[in-house]
Amino acid sequence: MKLLRDDTGRLHIDTPLMAESLMDKRLLEATATESTFRALPNLNVIKLGGQSIIDRGRQAVLPLLEEIVAARAEHDLLVTTGGGTRSRHVYAIALDLDMPTGVLAKLGSSISEQNALMLSILLAPHGGIKIGHDDLVKLPAYMALGSIPVMHAMPPYGLWEQPPDRGRIPPHRTDSGVFLTAEVVGARRCILVKDEKGLFTGDPKKDPDTDFIDEIEVTELLSLDLDDLPVERAMLRALMTARSVREVFVINGLEPDNLTRALAGENPGTRIYRAS
Ligand code: ADP
Ligand code: MG
Repeated sequence: MKLLRDDTGRLHIDTPLMAESLMDKRLLEATATESTFRALPNLNVIKLGGQSIIDRGRQAVLPLLEEIVAARAEHDLLVTTGGGTRSRHVYAIALDLDMPTGVLAKLGSSISEQNALMLSILLAPHGGIKIGHDDLVKLPAYMALGSIPVMHAMPPYGLWEQPPDRGRIPPHRTDSGVFLTAEVVGARRCILVKDEKGLFTGDPKKDPDTDFIDEIEVTELLSLDLDDLPVERAMLRALMTARSVREVFVINGLEPDNLTRALAGENPGTRIYRAS
């Protein structure tokens, strides 16, 4: 970038964005690229669901941690955590007290951080280490040490979380957070570990006649406009505009080996992908 001296003798940096509002449509278009730099293309980013996995306690969590420890010998891993039932409880109280969305987001974040603390402690004998959002840039060092970093998955919008189209529940929760984490580091895989095989046409816990979908394009999924989903709609919208990560896997962590298979490159559940 060139330095320019104006008539008054003052120096300016000749940047293509100088004096722009950053709202001009053509200028915005011109910043597009096919892909962006992938800092950690071998990293696998995993979310252990709050309600679906962690709230079930040792029976669900311990076998998954064993798979994670075994997989760490072969794969670079970042483990992230959802919030779960305690988030729902605090959301219900906050809603009753007329709290705005940003306050709910802040409350939800601290619950997912509690879960990250517990998992990092359980993984401590195997190199588990709790990290915060600012430590993401230190992942190469943690990987070189053989550590298993554990981070809460709630994205740091906090009080600034935007109110959703419907109601007051924060739209960007831990599914969005884990996906955007994978995207910013250019990760290899983003795996959401939950308690059902993957995506169905309806909630399998409420409707026994629902059909399983093993693979679906994200635009198609959004256009189905399903009444309920196992993943956040905001995560699907993020997948539509992501530059690095083009697919997300939703798997059943209550069945052994699904996480190991997903890390090995298989699709043991549902693959939601972006066609272009
Ligand atoms: P997590 O705790 O991992 O965030 P959630 O409980 O928030 O998981 O979401 C997963 C749950 O979503 C599943 O256990 C399932 O009961 C429910 N669900 C709702 N709609 C669907 C659907 N269309 N397909 C699959 N699961 C669904
Ligand atoms: Mg959820």
